[in-house]
Amino acid sequence: MTSATAFNTTQSEEIFSNAKDLMPGGVSSPVRAFSSVGGQPIVFDKVEGSHVWDVDGNEYIDYVGTWGPAICGHAHPEVIKALHETLDKGTSFGAPCVQENVLAEMVINAVPSIEMVRFVNSGTEACMATLRLMRAYTGRDKVIKFQGCYHGSGDMFLVQAGSGVATLGLPDSPGVPKAATSNTLAAPYNDLEAVKKLFEDNPGEIAGVILEPVVGNSGFVPPDAGFLEGLREITADNGALLVFDEVMTGFRISYGGAQEKFGVTPDLTTLGKIIGGGLPVGAYGGKKEIMEVVAPAGPMYQAGTLSGNPLAMTAGIKTLELLQRPGVYEQLDQMTKKLTDGLKEIAQKHGHAVSVGQISAMFGVFFTDRPVHSFEDAKTSDLQKFARYHRGMLERGIYLAPSQFEAGFTSLAHTDEDIDKTLKAADEVMASL
Ligand SMILES: *Cc1c(COP(=O)(O)O)cnc(C)c1O
Repeated sequence: MTSATAFNTTQSEEIFSNAKDLMPGGVSSPVRAFSSVGGQPIVFDKVEGSHVWDVDGNEYIDYVGTWGPAICGHAHPEVIKALHETLDKGTSFGAPCVQENVLAEMVINAVPSIEMVRFVNSGTEACMATLRLMRAYTGRDKVIKFQGCYHGSGDMFLVQAGSGVATLGLPDSPGVPKAATSNTLAAPYNDLEAVKKLFEDNPGEIAGVILEPVVGNSGFVPPDAGFLEGLREITADNGALLVFDEVMTGFRISYGGAQEKFGVTPDLTTLGKIIGGGLPVGAYGGKKEIMEVVAPAGPMYQAGTLSGNPLAMTAGIKTLELLQRPGVYEQLDQMTKKLTDGLKEIAQKHGHAVSVGQISAMFGVFFTDRPVHSFEDAKTSDLQKFARYHRGMLERGIYLAPSQFEAGFTSLAHTDEDIDKTLKAADEVMASL
């Protein structure tokens, strides 16, 4: 553990400075650039369990978990071992492999809405394909999304898309033609009346509603009681599809995702992150009748050279196996609750207004005095204070997502000692904010 005084990031600074000449903003994905917390990211060297190490040798307790996949802890020995065995037989076949059946069966058994699944290489890809499928199946073009929900970087979803865009302060992205988003309607999260109104104003034209059933991309925002049930009812009444984007929440909120936890079954579900166990995987699935519209079973084209490759499937299979062990989700929930209860108490002690939330291995802390039910609420947070908090924690060896509008993640590798150290650091930092 690094003490605040010894914190040195010379190597990170040099590598990132070179990176900026080589790649836009120095990164391969925008939020990594630490834009909203001072713009100097930490360059990683190694990850293991609940800890990460940077190129200057600093060690951190990690609450980003490579943005969600690392729920068993980084580089879990059983995942690594299985990967080595698969690797010896090659990395990509471009032909069917038996591991696809294994992972497909696991996903189908776990996720209530999924009877059939298609594997892709990222959550973005899964969401883009799902949108096409919603339209192909219903013969309608319009879709409803929610302000602050992120469904990957596809054109049609870059309307009020939450964290990455919010952090950069871009209300939308240049290069997305009006035509691409003209059929995307946006409503405030947790606002059923707004959804009803959109259906009334666009009769017979809405293919479906897509959402994060627990939002992670506005920071952590849970659904209000009755919100998911209400959406299920409105979509069914209007012959439209309900789609849960569980790329983040799948196998995290519970083994069967948010849909299992809340007992609301959508028509289609997108997955990613955890099901790839740290390798690039996404998936979409749902009722057989809908999925059989996808080529080659049906006419809707969607394809991928590396989709379903044995390496990525293996990492997913091993990760899900680890998550099937008894008591896993209770452990995640208790540990995360200890963290968020502690953070709330510490914030109050030092006179900082915070809104803190947690379900299972997902949590959030907003520096605001109002409860957060929507992206509008999240935006009332004190971003300057968050930036100082983030920096203080980083200097004390705690790695948090570098944006107020990202959720935090815990893993099975996090220990009581990790949580205690984190709370001790938070106590110091909050005292100085
Ligand atoms: C991360 C995320 C995506 C995009 O997945 P990528 O693998 O980054 O393309 C889509 N939807 C949600 C809810 C996500 O959290």
